[in-house]
Amino acid sequence: MKTPISDYLVEILDAVRADDSGEVASYIPTLAQADPDQLGVAMTTVFGRTYTAGDADTEFTIQSMSKPFAFAAALWEHGEDDVEKIVGTEPSGEAFNELSLESGTHRPKNPMINVGALAIHQMIGDPGDSWTVRSDKLVKFFSALAGRQLRVDEDAFESEIGSAHRNLSIAHMLAAYNMIDTNPEDVVRGYTAQCSILVSTRDIAMMAAVLAAGGVSPVTGAQVVARPIVRQVLSVMATSGMYDEAGEWFTEVGIPAKSGVAGGILGALPGQVGLAAFSPRLNDHGNSVRGTALFRRLSNDMGLHLMDAQAIGSRALRAVVSEKGRSVIQIQGPINFTAAEIVVNRLAQTPPSESSVVFDVSRVGMVNEIGRRMMLEAMRRLNLDGKTVLLYDPENSFPDPDIGGGVKPEILSEL
Ligand code: GLU
Repeated sequence: MKTPISDYLVEILDAVRADDSGEVASYIPTLAQADPDQLGVAMTTVFGRTYTAGDADTEFTIQSMSKPFAFAAALWEHGEDDVEKIVGTEPSGEAFNELSLESGTHRPKNPMINVGALAIHQMIGDPGDSWTVRSDKLVKFFSALAGRQLRVDEDAFESEIGSAHRNLSIAHMLAAYNMIDTNPEDVVRGYTAQCSILVSTRDIAMMAAVLAAGGVSPVTGAQVVARPIVRQVLSVMATSGMYDEAGEWFTEVGIPAKSGVAGGILGALPGQVGLAAFSPRLNDHGNSVRGTALFRRLSNDMGLHLMDAQAIGSRALRAVVSEKGRSVIQIQGPINFTAAEIVVNRLAQTPPSESSVVFDVSRVGMVNEIGRRMMLEAMRRLNLDGKTVLLYDPENSFPDPDIGGGVKPEILSEL
Protein backbone atom coordinates (compact mmCIF):
# COMPACT_ATOMS: atom_id res chain seq x y z
CA MET A 1 0.00 0.00 0.00
CA LYS A 2 1.20 3.53 -0.78
CA THR A 3 0.87 5.94 2.14
CA PRO A 4 -1.81 8.58 1.48
CA ILE A 5 0.18 11.25 3.36
CA SER A 6 2.53 12.15 0.48
CA ASP A 7 -0.42 12.43 -1.92
CA TYR A 8 -2.17 14.70 0.58
CA LEU A 9 0.90 16.99 0.77
CA VAL A 10 1.01 17.25 -3.04
CA GLU A 11 -2.70 18.09 -3.00
CA ILE A 12 -2.31 20.98 -0.52
CA LEU A 13 0.66 22.37 -2.48
CA ASP A 14 -1.53 22.42 -5.59
CA ALA A 15 -4.29 24.13 -3.63
CA VAL A 16 -2.08 27.09 -2.61
CA ARG A 17 0.17 27.29 -5.69
CA ALA A 18 -1.91 29.85 -7.57
CA ASP A 19 -1.59 32.49 -4.85
CA ASP A 20 1.21 34.78 -5.99
CA SER A 21 0.44 37.62 -3.61
CA GLY A 22 3.11 39.12 -1.35
CA GLU A 23 6.68 40.12 -2.11
CA VAL A 24 10.06 38.48 -1.58
CA ALA A 25 12.18 40.25 1.04
CA SER A 26 14.26 42.91 -0.67
CA TYR A 27 16.30 44.48 2.13
CA ILE A 28 18.80 41.60 1.88
CA PRO A 29 20.05 41.62 -1.75
CA THR A 30 20.44 37.80 -2.13
CA LEU A 31 16.88 37.27 -0.91
CA ALA A 32 15.56 39.70 -3.53
CA GLN A 33 16.98 37.33 -6.18
CA ALA A 34 15.17 34.22 -4.88
CA ASP A 35 12.85 32.39 -7.28
CA PRO A 36 9.48 33.47 -5.85
CA ASP A 37 7.65 30.41 -7.18
CA GLN A 38 9.52 27.86 -5.05
CA LEU A 39 7.13 25.90 -2.87
CA GLY A 40 7.80 23.05 -0.48
CA VAL A 41 6.28 21.29 2.50
CA ALA A 42 7.56 18.62 4.90
CA MET A 43 6.51 16.86 8.05
CA THR A 44 8.42 14.59 10.41
CA THR A 45 6.64 12.63 13.10
CA VAL A 46 8.10 12.23 16.58
CA PHE A 47 8.81 8.63 15.50
CA GLY A 48 11.13 9.93 12.78
CA ARG A 49 9.11 9.32 9.62
CA THR A 50 9.35 12.19 7.12
CA TYR A 51 6.91 13.09 4.32
CA THR A 52 7.64 15.82 1.78
CA ALA A 53 6.26 17.41 -1.38
CA GLY A 54 7.43 20.08 -3.83
CA ASP A 55 10.81 21.81 -3.42
CA ALA A 56 11.45 20.22 -0.04
CA ASP A 57 15.17 19.65 -0.71
CA THR A 58 15.96 23.14 -2.05
CA GLU A 59 18.27 25.00 0.32
CA PHE A 60 17.53 28.51 1.57
CA THR A 61 18.75 30.55 4.54
CA ILE A 62 17.23 29.74 7.90
CA GLN A 63 16.97 33.44 8.91
CA SER A 64 14.70 33.95 11.90
CA MET A 65 13.82 30.27 12.19
CA SER A 66 17.26 30.12 13.85
CA LYS A 67 15.99 32.19 16.79
CA PRO A 68 14.21 29.43 18.77
CA PHE A 69 17.28 27.19 18.50
CA ALA A 70 19.75 29.93 19.48
CA PHE A 71 17.44 30.66 22.43
CA ALA A 72 17.58 26.95 23.35
CA ALA A 73 21.38 27.01 23.14
CA ALA A 74 21.59 30.07 25.43
CA LEU A 75 19.22 28.44 27.94
CA TRP A 76 21.34 25.28 27.81
CA GLU A 77 24.58 27.19 28.45
CA HIS A 78 23.36 29.71 31.06
CA GLY A 79 20.11 28.42 32.59
CA GLU A 80 16.74 30.12 32.68
CA ASP A 81 17.52 32.65 35.45
CA ASP A 82 20.52 34.21 33.70
CA VAL A 83 18.83 34.29 30.31
CA GLU A 84 15.77 35.91 31.85
CA LYS A 85 17.91 38.82 33.10
CA ILE A 86 18.84 39.62 29.50
CA VAL A 87 15.67 38.85 27.50
CA GLY A 88 11.99 38.69 28.50
CA THR A 89 9.20 36.41 27.28
CA GLU A 90 6.45 38.92 26.49
CA PRO A 91 4.99 39.20 22.99
CA SER A 92 5.99 42.55 21.53
CA GLY A 93 3.24 43.00 18.95
CA GLU A 94 5.86 44.89 16.96
CA ALA A 95 7.68 44.34 13.69
CA PHE A 96 10.62 41.93 13.76
CA ASN A 97 13.26 44.68 13.49
CA GLU A 98 11.78 47.24 15.87
CA LEU A 99 14.22 49.26 17.99
CA SER A 100 12.47 48.63 21.28
CA LEU A 101 13.27 47.59 24.85
CA GLU A 102 11.09 46.87 27.87
CA SER A 103 10.69 50.04 29.92
CA GLY A 104 12.44 49.82 33.29
CA THR A 105 14.51 46.66 32.74
CA HIS A 106 15.79 47.66 29.26
CA ARG A 107 15.54 44.02 28.27
CA PRO A 108 14.38 43.07 24.78
CA LYS A 109 10.79 41.89 25.12
CA ASN A 110 11.40 38.41 23.72
CA PRO A 111 14.03 36.32 21.87
CA MET A 112 11.95 35.98 18.66
CA ILE A 113 12.43 39.59 17.50
CA ASN A 114 15.79 40.84 16.25
CA VAL A 115 16.64 42.86 19.35
CA GLY A 116 16.12 39.79 21.57
CA ALA A 117 17.86 37.44 19.14
CA LEU A 118 20.95 39.69 19.02
CA ALA A 119 21.11 39.73 22.83
CA ILE A 120 20.67 35.93 22.90
CA HIS A 121 23.28 35.36 20.20
CA GLN A 122 26.03 37.06 22.19
CA MET A 123 25.34 34.72 25.16
CA ILE A 124 26.51 31.71 23.10
CA GLY A 125 30.01 30.51 23.93
CA ASP A 126 32.48 31.92 26.42
CA PRO A 127 33.03 35.65 27.07
CA GLY A 128 35.66 36.89 24.64
CA ASP A 129 34.87 34.22 22.01
CA SER A 130 35.10 35.59 18.47
CA TRP A 131 31.94 35.79 16.39
CA THR A 132 33.15 32.87 14.26
CA VAL A 133 33.44 30.65 17.34
CA ARG A 134 29.86 31.56 18.28
CA SER A 135 28.50 30.94 14.81
CA ASP A 136 30.49 27.67 14.46
CA LYS A 137 28.95 26.48 17.73
CA LEU A 138 25.48 27.19 16.38
CA VAL A 139 26.23 25.47 13.05
CA LYS A 140 27.26 22.39 15.03
CA PHE A 141 24.15 22.48 17.21
CA PHE A 142 21.78 23.06 14.27
CA SER A 143 23.49 20.19 12.41
CA ALA A 144 22.77 17.86 15.35
CA LEU A 145 19.14 18.95 15.25
CA ALA A 146 18.82 18.48 11.48
CA GLY A 147 20.71 15.18 11.51
CA ARG A 148 23.15 16.31 8.80
CA GLN A 149 26.07 18.73 8.47
CA LEU A 150 24.84 22.27 7.74
CA ARG A 151 26.88 25.30 6.63
CA VAL A 152 26.73 29.08 6.37
CA ASP A 153 25.92 30.55 2.94
CA GLU A 154 28.81 33.01 2.58
CA ASP A 155 27.10 34.99 -0.20
CA ALA A 156 23.97 35.50 1.88
CA PHE A 157 26.14 36.47 4.85
CA GLU A 158 28.12 39.08 2.88
CA SER A 159 24.98 40.39 1.26
CA GLU A 160 23.18 40.93 4.58
CA ILE A 161 26.22 42.31 6.41
CA GLY A 162 26.65 44.90 3.67
CA SER A 163 23.22 46.34 4.44
CA ALA A 164 22.79 45.52 8.14
CA HIS A 165 22.24 49.13 9.24
CA ARG A 166 19.08 48.29 11.12
CA ASN A 167 20.60 45.37 13.08
CA LEU A 168 23.73 47.43 13.79
CA SER A 169 21.61 50.20 15.24
CA ILE A 170 19.76 47.64 17.39
CA ALA A 171 23.05 46.15 18.63
CA HIS A 172 24.41 49.62 19.47
CA MET A 173 21.19 50.38 21.36
CA LEU A 174 21.69 47.14 23.38
CA ALA A 175 25.29 48.17 24.12
CA ALA A 176 24.17 51.64 25.19
CA TYR A 177 21.92 50.01 27.82
CA ASN A 178 24.63 47.52 28.86
CA MET A 179 22.51 44.60 27.72
CA ILE A 180 25.42 43.20 25.69
CA ASP A 181 29.06 43.21 26.65
CA THR A 182 30.46 42.21 23.25
CA ASN A 183 31.43 44.55 20.43
CA PRO A 184 28.09 45.35 18.67
CA GLU A 185 29.55 44.87 15.17
CA ASP A 186 30.75 41.40 16.13
CA VAL A 187 27.37 40.53 17.59
CA VAL A 188 25.73 41.47 14.29
CA ARG A 189 28.33 39.46 12.33
CA GLY A 190 27.76 36.34 14.42
CA TYR A 191 23.99 36.74 14.37
CA THR A 192 24.00 37.27 10.59
CA ALA A 193 26.06 34.09 10.14
CA GLN A 194 23.48 32.31 12.34
CA CYS A 195 20.71 33.60 10.04
CA SER A 196 22.69 32.57 6.91
CA ILE A 197 22.83 28.86 7.73
CA LEU A 198 21.44 26.91 4.77
CA VAL A 199 18.57 24.49 5.40
CA SER A 200 15.97 22.71 3.35
CA THR A 201 12.29 22.36 4.18
CA ARG A 202 13.06 18.74 5.05
CA ASP A 203 15.76 19.88 7.54
CA ILE A 204 13.39 22.31 9.18
CA ALA A 205 10.72 19.62 9.66
CA MET A 206 13.35 17.43 11.33
CA MET A 207 14.56 20.27 13.59
CA ALA A 208 10.95 21.02 14.50
CA ALA A 209 10.32 17.33 15.21
CA VAL A 210 13.08 17.40 17.85
CA LEU A 211 11.12 20.16 19.60
CA ALA A 212 7.87 18.23 19.16
CA ALA A 213 9.52 15.17 20.70
CA GLY A 214 10.57 17.03 23.86
CA GLY A 215 14.16 17.49 22.69
CA VAL A 216 14.80 13.91 21.61
CA SER A 217 16.06 13.36 18.06
CA PRO A 218 13.40 11.17 16.43
CA VAL A 219 16.13 9.49 14.39
CA THR A 220 19.03 8.89 16.80
CA GLY A 221 17.02 8.85 20.05
CA ALA A 222 19.59 11.21 21.59
CA GLN A 223 18.40 13.98 23.94
CA VAL A 224 19.62 16.96 21.89
CA VAL A 225 17.79 19.61 23.96
CA ALA A 226 16.67 19.25 27.60
CA ARG A 227 12.90 18.85 27.99
CA PRO A 228 12.33 21.96 30.22
CA ILE A 229 14.19 24.07 27.64
CA VAL A 230 11.95 22.76 24.86
CA ARG A 231 8.90 23.74 26.88
CA GLN A 232 10.26 27.26 27.30
CA VAL A 233 11.16 27.58 23.62
CA LEU A 234 7.79 26.30 22.36
CA SER A 235 5.93 28.61 24.73
CA VAL A 236 7.77 31.65 23.41
CA MET A 237 7.24 30.46 19.83
CA ALA A 238 3.50 30.16 20.55
CA THR A 239 3.23 33.69 21.91
CA SER A 240 5.82 35.57 19.84
CA GLY A 241 7.00 33.40 16.95
CA MET A 242 5.02 35.04 14.17
CA TYR A 243 5.92 38.66 14.86
CA ASP A 244 2.99 41.05 14.96
CA GLU A 245 0.76 38.33 13.47
CA ALA A 246 1.31 35.97 16.44
CA GLY A 247 -2.21 36.27 17.86
CA GLU A 248 -3.99 35.70 14.56
CA TRP A 249 -1.63 32.83 13.76
CA PHE A 250 -2.22 31.05 17.04
CA THR A 251 -5.99 31.50 16.83
CA GLU A 252 -6.23 30.18 13.29
CA VAL A 253 -3.39 27.66 13.09
CA GLY A 254 -2.75 26.86 16.76
CA ILE A 255 0.76 25.48 16.26
CA PRO A 256 3.84 27.01 17.95
CA ALA A 257 5.81 28.36 14.99
CA LYS A 258 8.59 30.60 13.76
CA SER A 259 8.96 32.17 10.36
CA GLY A 260 12.03 33.38 8.49
CA VAL A 261 12.34 36.20 6.01
CA ALA A 262 13.63 33.81 3.30
CA GLY A 263 10.12 32.30 3.27
CA GLY A 264 10.41 29.37 5.65
CA ILE A 265 7.97 28.55 8.43
CA LEU A 266 8.75 26.02 11.15
CA GLY A 267 6.01 24.56 13.35
CA ALA A 268 6.18 22.05 16.20
CA LEU A 269 3.13 20.31 17.62
CA PRO A 270 4.20 18.88 21.00
CA GLY A 271 4.05 15.11 21.12
CA GLN A 272 3.07 14.75 17.48
CA VAL A 273 4.90 16.28 14.59
CA GLY A 274 7.41 18.79 13.22
CA LEU A 275 6.18 20.77 10.20
CA ALA A 276 7.86 23.02 7.66
CA ALA A 277 6.76 25.10 4.70
CA PHE A 278 8.78 27.18 2.24
CA SER A 279 7.67 29.81 -0.23
CA PRO A 280 9.56 33.13 -0.59
CA ARG A 281 6.78 35.69 -1.06
CA LEU A 282 5.96 37.37 2.27
CA ASN A 283 2.91 39.18 3.62
CA ASP A 284 3.04 42.59 5.34
CA HIS A 285 4.10 40.95 8.62
CA GLY A 286 7.11 39.24 7.03
CA ASN A 287 5.53 35.75 7.05
CA SER A 288 5.38 33.54 3.94
CA VAL A 289 1.98 33.92 2.24
CA ARG A 290 1.72 30.39 0.84
CA GLY A 291 3.53 28.95 3.87
CA THR A 292 0.82 30.42 6.08
CA ALA A 293 -1.88 29.01 3.80
CA LEU A 294 -0.22 25.57 3.94
CA PHE A 295 -0.11 25.62 7.73
CA ARG A 296 -3.78 26.62 7.87
CA ARG A 297 -4.67 23.66 5.68
CA LEU A 298 -2.51 21.25 7.68
CA SER A 299 -3.97 22.44 10.97
CA ASN A 300 -7.59 22.23 9.79
CA ASP A 301 -7.40 19.05 7.74
CA MET A 302 -5.34 17.09 10.25
CA GLY A 303 -6.83 18.45 13.48
CA LEU A 304 -3.50 19.86 14.66
CA HIS A 305 -4.72 22.96 16.52
CA LEU A 306 -3.19 22.80 20.00
CA MET A 307 -6.34 24.18 21.61
CA ASP A 308 -8.61 21.55 20.07
CA ALA A 309 -9.61 19.60 23.18
CA GLN A 310 -9.16 15.89 22.69
CA ALA A 311 -10.75 13.34 25.02
CA ILE A 312 -7.38 12.05 26.18
CA GLY A 313 -7.23 9.63 29.06
CA SER A 314 -10.93 8.79 28.94
CA ARG A 315 -10.17 5.12 28.27
CA ALA A 316 -7.35 4.83 30.76
CA LEU A 317 -9.23 2.25 32.78
CA ARG A 318 -9.73 -0.65 30.41
CA ALA A 319 -11.44 -2.96 32.93
CA VAL A 320 -11.44 -4.23 36.50
CA VAL A 321 -11.80 -8.02 36.52
CA SER A 322 -11.77 -10.70 39.21
CA GLU A 323 -9.34 -13.46 38.29
CA LYS A 324 -7.76 -16.25 40.36
CA GLY A 325 -9.04 -14.59 43.58
CA ARG A 326 -7.45 -11.25 42.67
CA SER A 327 -8.87 -7.94 41.42
CA VAL A 328 -6.98 -7.01 38.24
CA ILE A 329 -6.99 -3.30 37.35
CA GLN A 330 -6.22 -3.08 33.64
CA ILE A 331 -4.78 0.32 32.77
CA GLN A 332 -3.95 1.48 29.24
CA GLY A 333 -2.65 4.36 27.15
CA PRO A 334 -0.67 7.41 28.25
CA ILE A 335 -0.89 8.08 31.99
CA ASN A 336 -1.09 11.79 32.68
CA PHE A 337 -3.13 13.61 35.34
CA THR A 338 -6.47 13.11 33.58
CA ALA A 339 -5.89 9.41 32.97
CA ALA A 340 -4.67 8.77 36.53
CA GLU A 341 -7.65 10.69 37.94
CA ILE A 342 -10.02 8.31 36.14
CA VAL A 343 -8.28 5.29 37.66
CA VAL A 344 -7.99 6.64 41.23
CA ASN A 345 -11.56 7.95 41.17
CA ARG A 346 -12.86 4.52 40.17
CA LEU A 347 -10.79 2.81 42.91
CA ALA A 348 -12.08 5.32 45.47
CA GLN A 349 -15.74 4.96 44.38
CA THR A 350 -15.73 1.17 44.03
CA PRO A 351 -12.95 -0.42 46.06
CA PRO A 352 -11.61 -3.69 44.59
CA SER A 353 -13.50 -6.67 45.99
CA GLU A 354 -10.59 -9.12 46.41
CA SER A 355 -7.85 -8.86 49.05
CA SER A 356 -5.11 -8.99 46.38
CA VAL A 357 -5.09 -6.18 43.80
CA VAL A 358 -3.04 -6.45 40.60
CA PHE A 359 -2.18 -3.28 38.65
CA ASP A 360 -1.83 -4.54 35.09
CA VAL A 361 0.10 -1.74 33.31
CA SER A 362 1.24 -3.88 30.38
CA ARG A 363 -0.79 -1.71 27.97
CA VAL A 364 0.45 1.62 29.31
CA GLY A 365 2.46 3.97 27.09
CA MET A 366 3.97 7.22 28.34
CA VAL A 367 3.72 7.91 32.09
CA ASN A 368 4.38 11.49 33.16
CA GLU A 369 5.49 12.53 36.65
CA ILE A 370 2.06 13.34 38.04
CA GLY A 371 0.58 10.19 36.46
CA ARG A 372 3.26 8.10 38.13
CA ARG A 373 2.83 9.77 41.53
CA MET A 374 -0.93 9.33 41.50
CA MET A 375 -0.75 5.66 40.52
CA LEU A 376 1.85 4.90 43.21
CA GLU A 377 -0.27 6.81 45.75
CA ALA A 378 -3.29 4.70 44.81
CA MET A 379 -1.18 1.56 45.42
CA ARG A 380 -0.02 2.97 48.77
CA ARG A 381 -3.56 3.67 49.93
CA LEU A 382 -4.83 0.24 48.92
CA ASN A 383 -1.88 -1.20 50.83
CA LEU A 384 -2.87 0.85 53.91
CA ASP A 385 -6.43 -0.47 53.52
CA GLY A 386 -4.95 -3.94 54.04
CA LYS A 387 -4.82 -5.07 50.41
CA THR A 388 -1.87 -6.95 48.94
CA VAL A 389 -0.74 -4.86 45.97
CA LEU A 390 0.89 -6.51 42.95
CA LEU A 391 2.25 -4.96 39.76
CA TYR A 392 2.39 -6.52 36.31
CA ASP A 393 4.69 -4.24 34.29
CA PRO A 394 6.51 -6.16 31.52
CA GLU A 395 7.41 -2.89 29.69
CA ASN A 396 8.89 -1.31 32.83
CA SER A 397 6.58 1.72 32.62
CA PHE A 398 6.89 2.16 36.40
CA PRO A 399 10.58 1.68 37.16
CA ASP A 400 11.47 1.48 40.87
CA PRO A 401 7.83 1.59 42.07
CA ASP A 402 8.46 2.76 45.66
CA ILE A 403 5.03 3.45 47.16
CA GLY A 404 6.47 5.10 50.27
CA GLY A 405 9.01 4.19 52.94
CA GLY A 406 10.76 1.74 50.63
CA VAL A 407 7.61 -0.41 50.30
CA LYS A 408 7.16 -1.81 46.81
CA PRO A 409 4.32 -3.75 45.25
CA GLU A 410 5.05 -7.39 44.56
CA ILE A 411 6.25 -7.63 40.93
CA LEU A 412 4.51 -10.30 38.83
CA SER A 413 6.38 -11.83 35.92
CA GLU A 414 3.12 -13.08 34.42
CA LEU A 415 -0.59 -12.68 35.07
N1 GLU B 1 18.54 38.03 9.20
C1 GLU B 1 17.25 38.68 9.20
C2 GLU B 1 17.33 39.99 9.94
O1 GLU B 1 17.94 40.04 10.97
C3 GLU B 1 16.24 37.77 9.82
C4 GLU B 1 14.87 38.36 9.87
C5 GLU B 1 13.76 37.36 9.71
O2 GLU B 1 13.95 36.25 9.26
O3 GLU B 1 12.61 37.71 10.05
O4 GLU B 1 16.80 40.98 9.50
